[in-house]
Amino acid sequence: MGVRTRFAPSPTGFLHVGGARTALYSWLYAKKMGGQFILRIEDTDIERSTPEAVTAILEAMEWLELSWDEGPFYQTQHFERYKAVADQLLNAGDAYRCYCSKERLEKLREDQMANKEKPRYDGHCRHLSAIPDALSQNSFVLRFRNPETGSVEINDCVRGNVVIQNTELDDLIIVRSDGTPTYNFTVVVDDWDMKVTHVIRGDDHLNNTPRQINILKALGASLPIYAHIPMILGDDGKRLSKRHGAESVQHYQHEGILPQALLNYLVRLGWSHGDQEIFTREEMIQFFDIQDINKAPAAFNTEKLLWVNQQYLINAEPIQLVKHLQWQMEKLGINIAEGPELEAIIKAFRERSKTLKEMAEKSVLFYQEYVTLDAEAKAKHLTPEALESLKPLRLAFADLADWTTEAIHHALEQSALGLGVKLGKLAQPLRVAVTGNTTSPSIDITLALIGKERVLKRLDQVLANA
Ligand code: GLU
Repeated sequence: MGVRTRFAPSPTGFLHVGGARTALYSWLYAKKMGGQFILRIEDTDIERSTPEAVTAILEAMEWLELSWDEGPFYQTQHFERYKAVADQLLNAGDAYRCYCSKERLEKLREDQMANKEKPRYDGHCRHLSAIPDALSQNSFVLRFRNPETGSVEINDCVRGNVVIQNTELDDLIIVRSDGTPTYNFTVVVDDWDMKVTHVIRGDDHLNNTPRQINILKALGASLPIYAHIPMILGDDGKRLSKRHGAESVQHYQHEGILPQALLNYLVRLGWSHGDQEIFTREEMIQFFDIQDINKAPAAFNTEKLLWVNQQYLINAEPIQLVKHLQWQMEKLGINIAEGPELEAIIKAFRERSKTLKEMAEKSVLFYQEYVTLDAEAKAKHLTPEALESLKPLRLAFADLADWTTEAIHHALEQSALGLGVKLGKLAQPLRVAVTGNTTSPSIDITLALIGKERVLKRLDQVLANA
């Protein structure tokens, strides 16, 4: 049978970078093997799941272009199926009703803690041959009858062989007293029904795996192959969290990271292919393998993410970046019809910007009539002497028939020659006058992007206020 992987997020919040990496690895492996990638929303925790989170996860997956072949499936739509499988286990004697009261379980736990034992269910109801009359009206949960002897072996693609003794595992609740199925049970039923061949997930789930394997075995299901991915850490070695600036996928979208750059950064966070840092999607698919996932946890590094992003900005075809830059510009309230083509902005700014957000912010001045002068730049560069030198330049610009970088450059050179100054001496006051600030791409490109009419207007304003 072909490879079938799944990504199974719980919709209790945004899709975070850790989840995105899990999704990516599952997606990559399915693509590599010519298999199917399934999206399953694990929304049975009604209290914590929200429709907003579902939407956010789907949007993040779409933005990353991690398209799924099947789904999205919602576990809340599978309740009848879970009930049927629970009944099947009950009838086969692989599950049993447990009538233990909350008080009894609490007391058990307290006693075990006092005796320095691991808290676990003691199997009290496991051996009830008939339901005592006194209990028959009580509510009950359904527990899985875990094997009491032997061991479970997980042949994990990342962790290697992990063996857990069954004596370590107690009888897991699979259906609560209100009839709702529990997490470990729904995962098992769905992985079985969806014929998942490879379970790729965070190693925070490793503890669940032996329990899930035992249930799968009781159902006579074939076992998937597991790959438990080490956590992503913050730079202080602790598990990555908001504290470290670890954010949702949407956050990085807003910050101006390209989806492919984020994926490229994430694929390397826990996997490598020699020294290669930048991968096309096709290369990722070709080179990635779950066997090569690193055993050691990796640390998230925002600087590196920014570096990867800039590599994409520099090397992409400008046309491919247009829609992403447009999105950023619109967020800033810029009407892109009122300025240069976005491709020209991209070419001028991609060596100077680490993100699309930065690029958009630096470009605002090209879409406005006038700019506000930075006070410090004005005081330093727009001296009376400098303003004098801008006057002949304004005349030369007004005479230019062609507003090309070449023509602008020539006019600048001629004016500098006429004034007997170096071009740089003229360029900086000019830059401050037309951009309001001291940094911009080369002056001829900057002027070409602003456009002749606006350059003259801005110069006039500066000269009038001199
Ligand atoms: N729903 C689980 C989570 O979001 C993932 C379960 C799994 O991959 O088996 O952590």
